[in-house]
Amino acid sequence: MAINKVKGTYDVLPTESYLWKALEDKIRSTLKVYNIKEIRTPIMEYSEVFHRQSELSDMVTKETYDFDDRGDRKLTLRPEGTAGVIRAYVENKLYATQELEKVYYIGPNFRYERPQKGRYRQFYQFGVEAIGAVDPALDAEMIILAYDFIKRLGLKGVRVRINSLGDDESRKFYQQALIDHFTPHESTLCEDCKARLSKNPLRILDCKVDQKHPAIKEAPIPQDFLNEFSKTYFQEVLEHLNASKIDYEIAHKLVRGLDYYSHTVFEIEADIEGFGAQNVLGGGGRYQKLVSELGGPDLGGIGFACGMERLLLALEAENVQLAKDTDLDAFVIAFGNEVKTTATKILYELRKADIIADMNYTQKAFKGQLKQALRLNAKFLIILGEEEFKRGVVGIKNTKTEVQEEVLISKIKKYLLEKLEKK
Ligand code: AMP
Repeated sequence: MAINKVKGTYDVLPTESYLWKALEDKIRSTLKVYNIKEIRTPIMEYSEVFHRQSELSDMVTKETYDFDDRGDRKLTLRPEGTAGVIRAYVENKLYATQELEKVYYIGPNFRYERPQKGRYRQFYQFGVEAIGAVDPALDAEMIILAYDFIKRLGLKGVRVRINSLGDDESRKFYQQALIDHFTPHESTLCEDCKARLSKNPLRILDCKVDQKHPAIKEAPIPQDFLNEFSKTYFQEVLEHLNASKIDYEIAHKLVRGLDYYSHTVFEIEADIEGFGAQNVLGGGGRYQKLVSELGGPDLGGIGFACGMERLLLALEAENVQLAKDTDLDAFVIAFGNEVKTTATKILYELRKADIIADMNYTQKAFKGQLKQALRLNAKFLIILGEEEFKRGVVGIKNTKTEVQEEVLISKIKKYLLEKLEKK
């Protein structure tokens, strides 16, 4: 019996992996100019990294892959990037050497969700965390970076949605206001929202089931509960965005799923053909308690993440080609065993000079080999027949101009480097 892939996972096939690489290259080149270095953390962590006392978000309580390993350790496959990064930041005492640590990550996350188009159980995110400073300029930098990155992808209509939840004090007032507001409607809320009402009322605002509930429309907004410090902080973030002419709007009801956010929360959107409300390409926010909850000092941070499958779908929908798949520079067409050892040697010489080259290994006849070379978009054919071989030469044919020249075997590399302008 053939074994299939696990539900909610997918294979990236050799014909499409270049798209992933192009996206990753774009991420890395963008992060480089922002002077942000990569961090790589394990995909599994002790469960308590994600299942913290205070962390009551739906995702973390219901959707994680939790398991006991053979040594009876309680482990969890990471459902998101931030908590593991903070765990590493604390464990490696990065705060001791750098006042502000800015890092990015790219990698797979795991959530036991109902799979649907663009939603998987193993999916990839890249994200950025700036840990150790509370400064509106830093919030602005993260927003500008996320915005800039989506623009660099070549997507249109890129804009930011931003809101502030305020500091701890402001949030507490706001949470109480939400509890007061929703309690009379409790019996008409969905089961999840009933539970959220006492634990995490902010989550009710972005409930997928209750989206159209009239009480959500009429719910109080965080802005009305910001204290002076939080108001000024938010105002300053906006001033930075104004100065840099970032296209943004204040989204009064934006609260974002995870409940560790404080002050700034934001999302980046773009106009994407056929995406409708699914046009959010990334989001994030400021957090204050995460570092101390994971055993570190009382330091705040801000970060964001983008789902990479969604980015690739967006690029496809908008016909943006980040890159082309690599074409072959040269394909060696060879006949006969004696000749083939020479072909192997030629290939090695060419590849050492970074000429992208290949040959046929399935004993195809000339026509078959030619077809294969053309399918691979080879720029040059190196034709090595018995007769040429005896004279120490090959025929090199430019597949575009169809011009063929005879070249000494010892001069193939030089000839191709010149023609390919790879000197
Ligand atoms: P979140 O971490 O839930 O705020 O999600 C951030 C982004 O990650 C979303 O906008 C999605 O693009 C992506 N994402 C979240 N969950 C999944 C999933 N199960 N499959 C694919 N992408 C996802």
